[in-house]
Amino acid sequence: METEQSSSNATGSCEYVSSKGVQCGKSVAVNSLFCAEHTNQPSIDLEIYKSIHARFHHYVNASWTRTSFFFLVEAGFFTVFTGILVSTTNKASLYLTSINFVIGSVGLAIGCLWYFSSKINRKFVNLWRGQVIKIDKAVDKRQHHTVVEEQFQTSVSALELIQFLCMIFIAGWLVSLGVLIWLTLAH
Ligand SMILES: [Zn+2]
Repeated sequence: METEQSSSNATGSCEYVSSKGVQCGKSVAVNSLFCAEHTNQPSIDLEIYKSIHARFHHYVNASWTRTSFFFLVEAGFFTVFTGILVSTTNKASLYLTSINFVIGSVGLAIGCLWYFSSKINRKFVNLWRGQVIKIDKAVDKRQHHTVVEEQFQTSVSALELIQFLCMIFIAGWLVSLGVLIWLTLAH
């Protein structure tokens, strides 16, 4: 039960772009996005396909590695911060309160850094996802990657949720520092 859609490409123009950035534009060959002259380079297309996938996976993996790192650091800072806050609740210790203020400020700064880092990661993952879709459309007639990856372009991705998590941490630090200042002034 095979149906070939050779007619869908019959009127298209070749997608080949020269080193000067000019598109070829000749009529495409049957079942191809390129003209007869530029279609016969399957080995080069496959190498580009592999290298783009490697790059895409690198950015996805790097995003999660950085997220784990920031999350562990933030959790550590928060534990120390609340520990000192609890131990100084009924005592006026300027020394410990000052240290806690520094810990809270560093925690807030790392939270902001985490937010910008995840924003940059998300941008590059999306850019490389676009490249994966582009090469998949050229190389893979069944478009296995395109079908899945295009879903991420329209729905909420995990990397957007990481940015949301960063904002929760930043808000948490602002509230914590507010509580610290309020308790210090109340003494
Ligand atoms: Zn061409």
